[in-house]
Amino acid sequence: MVELIKIENLRHTYPGYDGQEVAALTDINLTVNQGEFVAVIGTNGSGKSTLAKHLNALILPTGGKCIVAGMDTADSDKVWEIRQQVGMVFQNPDNQIVAAIVEEDVAFGPENLGVEPAEIVRRVTEALQLVNMEEYRHHGPHLLSGGQKQRVAIAGVLAMRPKCLVLDEPTAMLDPRGRKEVLETVCRLNQEGITVIYITHFMEEAVTAHRVVVMEQGKIVTQGTPVEIFSQVDRLKAMGLDVPVAAEVAACLREQGIKLEQDIISDEQLVVALCP
Ligand code: ADP
Ligand code: MG
Repeated sequence: MVELIKIENLRHTYPGYDGQEVAALTDINLTVNQGEFVAVIGTNGSGKSTLAKHLNALILPTGGKCIVAGMDTADSDKVWEIRQQVGMVFQNPDNQIVAAIVEEDVAFGPENLGVEPAEIVRRVTEALQLVNMEEYRHHGPHLLSGGQKQRVAIAGVLAMRPKCLVLDEPTAMLDPRGRKEVLETVCRLNQEGITVIYITHFMEEAVTAHRVVVMEQGKIVTQGTPVEIFSQVDRLKAMGLDVPVAAEVAACLREQGIKLEQDIISDEQLVVALCP
């Protein structure tokens, strides 16, 4: 296993608006291997976005270290290389699209990296194919649905050939169909080898990850496989988090005396368990 991200005793304190410092992250330790799909969950204000911003040096540690693909994010000579290796996708698709034509938008990243024009064309085609948006290449992004815009934003990141995608609640502003499109795209990219760090408050999305990291008040309070995390229905609820509907229904049925395994976290598993 190749280590892609290594975070050691990371702290982040914001100056704060009223002179009061805000300790957004305290003593974060996290390792992510190449090819992993890690979901990050936690209530509002738990530090998820602050953690994401460290991964491509948008902000720098106020304590500890963040190493990405062997580079220390605090090393100012490495910032551009780090940003090429780790692509970020944010919540609002409209804030991420800069050009008036889809293909120009996707070309923006590699253009800034100084990639040769012929190579840019190749990369744009490849990136649009990867997110299943090639037929919209000559369209205006403003005419696309939210899910399509997010896929264009992902293509723009892919055109820089990153090792890792960091997505910060990429589906929060989308309808169910757009959410499904984006999640399926991300899962497919991960299967093709790209490392994914996926922040979400939709637990049904977190279920598809290899590993779930749970944050609370600037700390990682627990992490494990989706089954290990989502079988702790009461603990998650006490933290103010949702649990996948299937896990919650299974927990209720168990309380009623129905024998069900602990590893039921998806609708499909619940259906199979109840109607074998
Ligand atoms: P999450 O993404 O989990 O909602 P954030 O990382 O956005 O959490 O925020 C963590 C904490 O840091 C919160 O208390 C938030 O108010 C604070 N915070 C975030 N950004 C800033 C900032 N630019 N200046 C001051 N405080 C901030
Ligand atoms: Mg956030």
